[in-house]
Amino acid sequence: MNLLLLGAPGAGKGTQGALLAERYGIPKISTGDLLREAVREGTPLGQKAKSYMDAGELVPDEVMLGLIQEVLTEDGTPDEAVERGFVLDGFPRTLRQAEGLDRLLDEIGRPLDAVIVVSVPDDVLIRRLSGRRTCANCGAVYNVYLEPPRTAGTCDRCGGPLVERPDDTAATVRRRLEIYQEQTEPLIAYYERSRTPVYRVDGDRPVEEVQRAIMGLLES
Ligand code: AMP
Repeated sequence: MNLLLLGAPGAGKGTQGALLAERYGIPKISTGDLLREAVREGTPLGQKAKSYMDAGELVPDEVMLGLIQEVLTEDGTPDEAVERGFVLDGFPRTLRQAEGLDRLLDEIGRPLDAVIVVSVPDDVLIRRLSGRRTCANCGAVYNVYLEPPRTAGTCDRCGGPLVERPDDTAATVRRRLEIYQEQTEPLIAYYERSRTPVYRVDGDRPVEEVQRAIMGLLES
């Protein structure tokens, strides 16, 4: 199963992607996670990406295309990790990235099976993103408005400190949503013109319901 999740920041692509990855036994490829890891480790990629990420801007297309090529391919064939399929989360985000991805998938003979668009109204996205807190220790995710921890600022699971992602602050969240509308949303029409089926799912529901809706579409 070669899947692509499209949706605004905060729509739940990461959560749904992880569930799909588990269900089909395939890796979830999140470019946001890969970049955050590179920033943490201070690699050349991380050093290039950090200022864009902190400002809520997109990392340049050449950098992203290089990264995705490295993850998906190995000498013109599918990388071992994606032999059985993949779920892409957060890539592509621009038309140039989408075209580059098409070329790459063509080259390795692994076309997309489906594009899943997760839609959530803007006011809900803003609440989700600006309330998001992550445990610095174990990575558990909370929301101070929607799913608060039992003790403010402390992880229920491991007692670690909860931190805000640097790009989840109010001004940056607005910028990320603007960029989504300008640069990423047009990809829905791009895929609708392609041969890949595009499924739209209402993401403003509990996680399990959204997952059931996606599975229903993929397995129908
Ligand atoms: P995410 O976790 O997917 O919201 O990504 C966090 C940040 O990483 C984004 O706001 C961008 O700065 C950067 N990023 C992730 N994926 C991409 C991409 N495909 N193209 C450009 N920038 C990206």
